Amino acid sequence: MNKTLSVSAIYNGTVIDHINSGQAIKIIYLLGLLDKKYKVTIGLNLPSKRMNLKDIIKIENHSLKNEEANEITVFAPEATINIIKDFEVVKKITTTLPPNISGIFSCPNPICITHSETIETFFDITTHGKQVNLVCKYCEKIFDRNQVNVNI
Ligand SMILES: [Zn+2]
Repeated sequence: MNKTLSVSAIYNGTVIDHINSGQAIKIIYLLGLLDKKYKVTIGLNLPSKRMNLKDIIKIENHSLKNEEANEITVFAPEATINIIKDFEVVKKITTTLPPNISGIFSCPNPICITHSETIETFFDITTHGKQVNLVCKYCEKIFDRNQVNVNI
């Protein structure tokens, strides 16, 4: 039996597996899943041989677009994203890091202008080896992915 199917029982939709533990909530906001009325199942801190602990998100009756999948890799570089039809994996999305990300996340720099003016945040994505950084367009400070949080 397919490994993805052993952890998912959705008929049609998308399974995002191997999310670094603690990152699933950010991805929920990143994909706007609370506003859209998709049926979503979230698993947090599930045991994983490869990652020790992982998060998983299952979205029913919605296939993620490649651009959405790419944004996930900023926070979950090892995520595997499979499109399911009739309980079978019909497509594995190959992701690449996007060049930038905007709107969803708050700049961790408390004196950044994005906190005092109503401007959408904008971060360039840069890599240094395995390290992924977000560089704020406005204050030009560099942040680790774990420092950046959702703007709720
Ligand atoms: Zn900033």
